[in-house]
Amino acid sequence: MTAEKNLAVHPVRNGLGIVALKAFAPGVTVCRIRGEVVTAEVVWQYWDNDPRRGENCFRYDADHYLDPEGEIGAYANHSCNPNAGIVKTGRRLLLRAIRPIAVGDEVTHDYSTLLGADDVWKMRCNCGEPGCRKMVRSFSALPAVTLRRYRRLGIIPDFIRQTG
Ligand SMILES: [Zn+2]
Repeated sequence: MTAEKNLAVHPVRNGLGIVALKAFAPGVTVCRIRGEVVTAEVVWQYWDNDPRRGENCFRYDADHYLDPEGEIGAYANHSCNPNAGIVKTGRRLLLRAIRPIAVGDEVTHDYSTLLGADDVWKMRCNCGEPGCRKMVRSFSALPAVTLRRYRRLGIIPDFIRQTG
């Protein structure tokens, strides 16, 4: 795993997660999501052979996903009230703080921001937040107020919005 001196992988509410070892202000990049860019067909094979690995993949563009296996991004968990979001800058996916993150906080993002209208994957949610949606689906199924807020924060990449 690429060393991330400001982050650690620790037990959290749901398995292992990314925990901050320093505070991050809103707008600050927490880390780059590293991994291998793979086709949708490869992700489908993960679903058949290793569903955990499939779940960990990040949508990367219209036809590709980023597989973070062996990197810290494999531990990035979902929250319906996240403190970070994914921003695509050039060819990089960056995890960026959207709220103040304190030392010891788990760093989470909302998986729906990377689920296009053409992604059929969905997940039951157990994030424990008061506004938990219970089911994580495509960005296009987000409540309107949440969608507006995420768009304003710039954490729904263009290639996701273009699927809707
Ligand atoms: Zn939730």
